[in-house]
Amino acid sequence: MRHIRDIHQQKKSEGKPAFSFEFFPPKTEKGEENLFASVLPELQAMAPDYCSVTYGAGGSTRDTTLDMVERIQRDVGLVCMSHLTCVQATQDEIAQVLQEAQRRQICNILALRGDPPGGVGPFEATEGGFAFSKDLVAFIKANHDMSIGVAGFPEGHIACREGKEVDWARLKEKVDAGADFVVTQLFFDNEDFLRFRDHMVKELGMEQTIIPGILPVLSTRQIQRFTELCGATIPSPMMQRLEGLSEDDAAATAFGIDYAINQCEALLKEGVAGLHFYCLNKAHSTLEVAKALASYR
Ligand SMILES: Cc1cc2nc3c(=O)[nH]c(=O)nc-3n(C[C@H](O)[C@H](O)[C@H](O)COP(=O)(O)OP(=O)(O)OC[C@H]3O[C@@H](n4cnc5c(N)ncnc54)[C@H](O)[C@@H]3O)c2cc1C
Repeated sequence: MRHIRDIHQQKKSEGKPAFSFEFFPPKTEKGEENLFASVLPELQAMAPDYCSVTYGAGGSTRDTTLDMVERIQRDVGLVCMSHLTCVQATQDEIAQVLQEAQRRQICNILALRGDPPGGVGPFEATEGGFAFSKDLVAFIKANHDMSIGVAGFPEGHIACREGKEVDWARLKEKVDAGADFVVTQLFFDNEDFLRFRDHMVKELGMEQTIIPGILPVLSTRQIQRFTELCGATIPSPMMQRLEGLSEDDAAATAFGIDYAINQCEALLKEGVAGLHFYCLNKAHSTLEVAKALASYR
């Protein structure tokens, strides 16, 4: 399977953005069947450049993540990146996951620290494990020929009390440890992303690809919960619209599609290297947004 760094390189030389889709490992057989029989074929029609599969909180999906990535690559023929976190894992256990990934022809990893189990309180490294994703990046780089992505936070990471510029300086360190590209947390105000990109490129001299993460909103309650967890801001005009739609998920979804199309068009005009869609294992919204952006591809 191809390295994502090569895909980005190729897209850049063609002057085209890379589109990628993110999924999570379904919890049930029915969910998995729906993903492979319906969601993936529908999204495959949009010719994504690659996709990715998340790693459950606390390392809970270790095997299912690898199973899904392997199956997507084998059965769908799409390059797929496995997310990997340091949560509740020793260095030896992480080494085993990486060896298993390599055995399954998985050669793209999104290297993450992860969140504390239960999502609350300060993160504490497992004894014999890694404290920060930077250490995981360096470990992968030293031991495997894999393309490595890392997470970036246009509004700063929620737990970074020292402010976003400190967080961004740490992002530069983790990229310097061996990452090829950055995928960002969701955001709704493009100015946040553009300030972040300017800082990384112009102030810190980062040359690696930065891919904005896009979430087409599906429901008011869900986006309120997501943004509380990750610290992203919902701009007040957007919040007012969503509050007006509160229980009407169909209307919130339609609004989310329009919002994402406008947001993505503006980002593409700013020359972003690609768009990474948080699909939440559903095809409809991402499909509508990707269709509307067809002329940019
Ligand atoms: C695109 C994307 C995909 C994601 N996928 C998953 C997933 O599949 N599974 C999952 O569980 N989570 C996932 N997450 C969430 C992620 O695990 C959390 O945001 C986590 O809290 C931080 O991970 P990180 O890799 O950015 O950590 P790090 O880069 O290690 O940073 C974590 C915190 O530590 C601080 N820090 C870094 N270095 C130092 C240092 N040297 N000294 C002091 N402080 C430091 C940073 O400022 C930050 O506040 C994803 C996030 C994004 C943006």
